[in-house]
Amino acid sequence: MPIHLLSPDLISKIAAGEVVERPNSVVKELVENSLDAGASQISIEVRGGGVNFIRVSDNGTGIPGDEAELAFDRHATSKITSLADLENAKSLGFRGEALPSIAHVAQVELVTRSREEVSGTYLSLQDGKATERGVRAHPQGTTVTVRNLFRHVPARLKFLKSSTTENSHITNLVSHYSLAFPGVRFGLVIDGRPILHTPGSGKVRDVMAEIYGLQIAQAMLKIEKTAKEGGLTPAVSGYVSPPSLSRASRSYLSFFVNQRWIQSPLLARAVERAYEGLLGVGRYPIAVINLSPLPQSVDVNVHPTKREIRFSQEPVVFNTVYGTVRRTLMDKMPLPEVELSHQPASVSAPGQQAPEVPVGEEKRSFSLPLVPPKAPPSGIPILRVLGQVARAYVIAEGPDGLYLIDQHAAHERVLFEKILGQQAKEGVESQSLLEPLTIELSLRQEELLRARQEILSRFGFVIEPFGERTYLLRAVPAMLAGQGMEEPVKEALDSLEDDANPAEREEKLAASLACHGAIRAGQILSQEEMRELVKQMEKATSPRTCPHGRPTIVHLSSGRLEREFGRM
Ligand code: ADP
Ligand code: MG
Repeated sequence: MPIHLLSPDLISKIAAGEVVERPNSVVKELVENSLDAGASQISIEVRGGGVNFIRVSDNGTGIPGDEAELAFDRHATSKITSLADLENAKSLGFRGEALPSIAHVAQVELVTRSREEVSGTYLSLQDGKATERGVRAHPQGTTVTVRNLFRHVPARLKFLKSSTTENSHITNLVSHYSLAFPGVRFGLVIDGRPILHTPGSGKVRDVMAEIYGLQIAQAMLKIEKTAKEGGLTPAVSGYVSPPSLSRASRSYLSFFVNQRWIQSPLLARAVERAYEGLLGVGRYPIAVINLSPLPQSVDVNVHPTKREIRFSQEPVVFNTVYGTVRRTLMDKMPLPEVELSHQPASVSAPGQQAPEVPVGEEKRSFSLPLVPPKAPPSGIPILRVLGQVARAYVIAEGPDGLYLIDQHAAHERVLFEKILGQQAKEGVESQSLLEPLTIELSLRQEELLRARQEILSRFGFVIEPFGERTYLLRAVPAMLAGQGMEEPVKEALDSLEDDANPAEREEKLAASLACHGAIRAGQILSQEEMRELVKQMEKATSPRTCPHGRPTIVHLSSGRLEREFGRM
């Protein structure tokens, strides 16, 4: 639609904000305009931290000559007309404030040509007013040049950090737009140095390779969840790092809502929760996640610069993101590769540098999924059991070398899934004790026992009051029978402590029971028992980790063996 002034009524409904805070905000507004104009190529050039010079050039729709001046009027926009438009706004801008605000604090030049026109329009502005207009050749699209930012606003200039800081903000910003719009070719040049250049291939992985490096880009795991009918659950897509690629700060978490880069403590918490048990203390994952909720379920107007948004259903959004990431990690995490202490010389061929170890690489390393893994994406390959090592690990041969299975962790996983399956159906198989066992509970445990009767009986416990703080244990989940039972029961109660939701509570209780029911390290297993364990693991939904997130299986590939023995 043509550029027009918004009605005063609609203006009052759009939270106004100071748009131009720093050079970075100019870049942001200009790039958003280019994206809104449907550009497939956007070049950004910055000098002197953006204070001296910012130029953004695009091949978008361009602005018709007779609308060029209007674009610099306050509340002039081509993007919405009515409140209904606002609610469905897909564009990044819609307030009609950016160009006038920028023109107010800097010298601005606009050169633009729309498709219908044969020649381009040139417009120069000082202090927000057009001072020169003319005709100038320009390919279809728009180039906006901003010079001497804040020259007349010394207070602002004074508060600006060094140009290095501004440059890093701008680089960060353009990186995020590149991630959100992988189909657009972005070029960023700072003080004459090319900083970023994305191919515009439409693949987020290609953009990640530019920003994070090839090795990380290849290792990232794809996440995908389609939206549910009814519209509350957002569609989630993007990439998350395998646990081997952790970082020491949260700054590698990038979130987008409908391709708009946002800050969201809620989403950060959801992702971090998904890595619970998988990362060390103070380590954070890398994530690039886009949510596509229905426009009605988010309010982008909360923050004037639109970096914060509000979801109408926060718990739904949290659980969807948490669940999608967690599932992906459990299913797709590459099997950990056995790390050998010395690197044979032949690992990297001459002239072919071994990839740099990413910062913060954990001690255990994971093989990169450069070749499609032979195992089904969520499972483990078919294995032939060879024997037991150190009374703790099952050693097996598979399609690509050697596999070591932690017998306790693996059995924990198998039991965990079995318990969850049983409790959802007819309840966990229970076994009555020949002699009821007297147990003494703490006050807190007593309370939990009362409050969580239902879940406890569904999980196979029969516990009766017997006196002050004393209880009779009459039946336990069958997998616990025949061992010291007091501790497992108390721990099961303690696991119900948190005010978690029912599903989380079930998982915690199941994990606690699985841990106590599972075969221990130190237990000698017969060939038959080991084969049975491996068979059950092959059937498990997420066999690669125990319920606490530790690996159940590690891999020593045939290639690695050959290299170690100097066969290649
Ligand atoms: P808004 O983006 O909120 O509409 P702006 O002040 O940023 O407000 O821009 C005003 C109008 O100028 C836009 O609505 C659009 O019609 C036009 N415009 C600005 N930049 C471009 C561009 N790069 N390509 C095409 N049109 C543009
Ligand atoms: Mg705009």
